[in-house]
Amino acid sequence: MISEPRCHRVSDVLHGVGRYEYLAKVGDRVFTASLAPRPCPTCGRALVPWNGIHRADSLVAEHLAREGPISGDSFRFIRKAAGLTAVEIAALLDVTPEAISKWENGKNPMPRAPWLVLSEVALDRSALLAKLRRFAEAGAFEEKTELGDLSETDEAPNDEQPSAP
Ligand SMILES: [Zn+2]
Repeated sequence: MISEPRCHRVSDVLHGVGRYEYLAKVGDRVFTASLAPRPCPTCGRALVPWNGIHRADSLVAEHLAREGPISGDSFRFIRKAAGLTAVEIAALLDVTPEAISKWENGKNPMPRAPWLVLSEVALDRSALLAKLRRFAEAGAFEEKTELGDLSETDEAPNDEQPSAP
């Protein structure tokens, strides 16, 4: 039995020599990347580059969110890359976790609207996710909102006017 140094986790050791070859298959699409191994700061052994793998997952999710295809496979990949559980995204989309599971496993066809919402989360993560979470709570808006003085003025917007010859 080989004893591992205690400076890194056994599961983090990169087997083989050279670089970590990233591969993600999503439906008919294949994404690859080559990542430098992460040296253990103590012993220098090559470790799995988890940060690079997570970055690659985010890039794949962005490609899928921009280009499609709209499918259960791509929905699952984008959801996981955004760090959302099936239960979380079900609550935000107002569907059951079982509905999410059936889309992702191809038992039901993937509807466009929830896929597009999730794809916007992946592309503009903080803003839309915050909005979905705010809408899921009560009291997201003021009951009375003063929009201010909207009376027309005589002045035309001056930067749109063609200059006289
Ligand atoms: Zn080490």
